[in-house]
Amino acid sequence: MSARSTAPLGRALPKGVRDLCATLSKQGHDAWVVGGCVRDVLMGRTASDWDVATTALPADVQRIFRRTIPTGIDHGTVTVLLGGEKYEVTTLRGESGYADGRRPDVVTFGASIDEDLGRRDFTVNAIAYHPIDDAIVDPWHGEGDLERRVIRAVRDPRERFAEDGLRVLRAARFVATLGFELDPATEAAIRPNLPTYAKVSPERVREEWLKAFRAAEPSRAFRIMRRTGMLEVHAPLLASVDDARFEQAMTRLDRAPREPVAARVAALAWDHRDRRDEVDAWLRALRFSNREREAALLVLAHAEAPSRALDAPASRRFLRSVGPSEAFWVLETLEAEASSRRDATQAVEAVRALRGRCAEVLDRGEPIDLRSLAITGADVMRLSGRGPGRYVGEVLERLLDEVIEDPSRNEAATLAARASELSREASR
Ligand code: ATP
Ligand code: MG
Repeated sequence: MSARSTAPLGRALPKGVRDLCATLSKQGHDAWVVGGCVRDVLMGRTASDWDVATTALPADVQRIFRRTIPTGIDHGTVTVLLGGEKYEVTTLRGESGYADGRRPDVVTFGASIDEDLGRRDFTVNAIAYHPIDDAIVDPWHGEGDLERRVIRAVRDPRERFAEDGLRVLRAARFVATLGFELDPATEAAIRPNLPTYAKVSPERVREEWLKAFRAAEPSRAFRIMRRTGMLEVHAPLLASVDDARFEQAMTRLDRAPREPVAARVAALAWDHRDRRDEVDAWLRALRFSNREREAALLVLAHAEAPSRALDAPASRRFLRSVGPSEAFWVLETLEAEASSRRDATQAVEAVRALRGRCAEVLDRGEPIDLRSLAITGADVMRLSGRGPGRYVGEVLERLLDEVIEDPSRNEAATLAARASELSREASR
């Protein structure tokens, strides 16, 4: 048992969780809150979701609570709905045999809380709190590691990483999300287990990457991935650059905006902006969503915009191409990149100048898209005396090109005359 006060846990525990544990207790079962929520509260953070471990069997949990969902019933997890909240309630487990390096072959119920904590990944994730007894259970000294800010595997890291290939990646991302260091023995166990890590599905890799990207300093995770060889496994493109470039990428990564996540993806992929098809293939392989992938590529495609956009038409062209709703985070990402360069001052100036001009364009309502034209597709059809067709879009795009160069042309009569001319050309 630990010397640390249980008071923060007592205070942070939502009433729903306390009620849930009390109900289990009245039925003769023990219940603890466990894992990330305990860790986060002891760190002074707010817990995102509360997980409960109990001696009750899944069938008991389903019987005791009125509203339940058999979320992961084979692994002992039942979701309990209580007071508008959802809680994952899992029967204490011991595990053995991980033939595929992903999922335990056998799950055994009826384990003790110590055994249950002993199969968890890191000491800081293996602390339990018993609300009814108001007691912390910490057989792996997770509180000491929280104090020292260290991620350390529970028991022998080599064995634990061989059991489940995802754990090496979780280690790296917790270093970033918690801002901790990785225990050297735990780190040393990563490389020998890369073959197991290679079996982890791309979906799960992406999930952990996304968590790392949202950290204050994602570079903490990516540096570990690089020096242990993990980066090579799922991102050979990124692993291929030399140390100096990689370090520059890390600076860029930390400075890029947190939202949307594509900003940080783009920061990582920056060195490969001239090979966007390779970046595209890599992001597809890692199962990034279309939106995330396209947004990251959008940044790379506009890498040179600040150095080229020296006048108002160029900033309108930039806004047209990037889209006004994306433009400002793209510019923030470009600024993060500029600031990590050797000639930072000039490069940053160029991005800021472009941002200033973009803001002006939008303030003045200057034309940057088809909607801002003083003429519509219906007008184009009427003026040409023709029905719908591809020419309508082509004519409008041409008019927009011209108006972007010279906004004074964005006037109904001028555009009508020009539309008639262009339609005649298009019909030939
Ligand atoms: P986060 O704040 O990112 O959700 P978390 O610690 O809550 O972090 P989860 O993935 O929600 O992480 O898992 C909850 C708990 O389950 C962990 O704290 C850990 O005790 C245990 N756990 C999760 N994944 C593993 C794993 N691959 N191997 C061993 N234990 C795990
Ligand atoms: Mg969690």
